[in-house]
Amino acid sequence: TSALVWFRRDLRSFDHAALYHALRFAQRVHCVFVFDTAILDALPARRDRRVEFIHGSLAELDAALNTLAQQAGGAGAGLIVRHGRAQDEVPRLAFELGVDKVFANRDYEPDAIVRDSQVAQQLAAQGVGYEDFKDQVIFERDEVLTQAGKPFSVFTPYRNAWLKAVDAFQLKSYPVAAYAQRLAPKPAGESLPALADIGFESTNLIELHMPLGMSGGRRLFEDFTNRIERYKRARDFPAVKGVSYLSTHLRFGTVSIRQLAAHAQQQGGEGADTWLSELIWRDFYHQILWHHPRVVTQAFRPEYDTLQWDEAPALFAAWCEARTGYPLVDAAMRQLNQTGYMHNRLRMVVASFLTKDLGIDWRLGERHFAVHLNDFDLAANNGGWQWAASTGCDAQPWFRIFNPVTQSTRFDPEGRFIRRYVPELARVPDKFIHAPWTMGGIDQSACRTRIGVDYPAPVVDHAAARERTLARFGVLKG
Ligand code: FAD
Repeated sequence: TSALVWFRRDLRSFDHAALYHALRFAQRVHCVFVFDTAILDALPARRDRRVEFIHGSLAELDAALNTLAQQAGGAGAGLIVRHGRAQDEVPRLAFELGVDKVFANRDYEPDAIVRDSQVAQQLAAQGVGYEDFKDQVIFERDEVLTQAGKPFSVFTPYRNAWLKAVDAFQLKSYPVAAYAQRLAPKPAGESLPALADIGFESTNLIELHMPLGMSGGRRLFEDFTNRIERYKRARDFPAVKGVSYLSTHLRFGTVSIRQLAAHAQQQGGEGADTWLSELIWRDFYHQILWHHPRVVTQAFRPEYDTLQWDEAPALFAAWCEARTGYPLVDAAMRQLNQTGYMHNRLRMVVASFLTKDLGIDWRLGERHFAVHLNDFDLAANNGGWQWAASTGCDAQPWFRIFNPVTQSTRFDPEGRFIRRYVPELARVPDKFIHAPWTMGGIDQSACRTRIGVDYPAPVVDHAAARERTLARFGVLKG
């Protein structure tokens, strides 16, 4: 028997459900990754940090599979990489290799579900099996339901049910190495394509010192384990190294969610417990997307789809280009533009600002994030945006509107994060850093930052915008 493992958002050679099951099933196991043109061609630019992240991580995966096979006494192995439509490439390769079955880990995004069922159908027509497994979450689909057997739409009871249901079995690693001698050598002439071969150029990923692949994920996690106890207290301050920075690794599966969750659960204490809750949010939004795929384009609560958002292309451009005049919002948007990452607190601040201060439809912001975030994940991003816009499940109440100046004062008190990304405000005194337009002419000259010249005046007045938002949502309530 022989099998093909199709890697997608699970770019690792350890604790991997599909790889484990394939190795148990077959004497010879091949591995493939497809640079899917259906995804790549839709990207707006030919420089994309995520494509480069994947590319770098594949090189490491290729080498790791080889080492794994050799250490187990096998002849060596590696990753076959294809570039084309997955619906064509996977069945074609399965045919070329003559495998009995294709193994993959499940993906819960609506487009991926369609793609995978097309691949399975094509394989079935060729007489080849297809089997997929839970791997990227701890609990999937309808594994955690309310007592009435319904999906949860509120996080806290979901988390309680999740914590009650989780056990050693759910968090157990798949012992891939035990069967690794079954990994098949790569066919002759197979080599990894260069980035240019798939039509992409390099980005600033290397300058950002972003650690790639399994080794990068491990390094970040080890670093975080030294700080995890402080997570609860530090996580809201973007100038502080308080969070794990593992989201891109979780997105592409260069770390194992089971190992991370098991570590947090075993460690316990306020920091690890709070971090585990964040991992549970990830499962929560995945099950929301799976149960309610309409949220991709519609409000979770249908009545909110009648909200009248403003058409404001100039304001939207100011938000995207980080020139709203609100320092924390602009610093956050620059962090996104320059690095592809944005701190969670800031994601909440800028999403609230776009929807509640600028009155712009959350879908525009969600799509902007989808293009620019290294860790873009449809389920988490959609959930986060609908939460901030107050249109989603368990969203913040619509009448609670973030004040961008208060948020700045609380979470970046000395303006350290602001000054890092908005150097034109570097000399502004602490007392004006959160609202520099309140500086008088003398102070502006003293710090050589003229508002409206060196740094923009605010594009909206928060108090007035707040009233407009209350009216916008109030119509629905009235
Ligand atoms: P940590 O604080 O160390 O958290 C650990 C992990 O838990 C994260 O890597 C992530 O996988 C998960 N997690 C944390 N918070 C959430 C959450 N609220 N929802 C779901 N999972 C969570 N996260 C993404 O992974 N991709 C996105 O596209 C995304 N878009 C977002 C958009 C908005 C508007 C908001 C408010 C949040 C979004 N998040 C998204 C959630 C969160 O901001 C990021 O996961 C987090 O900032 C990543 O940094 P970290 O890995 O250091 O997080």
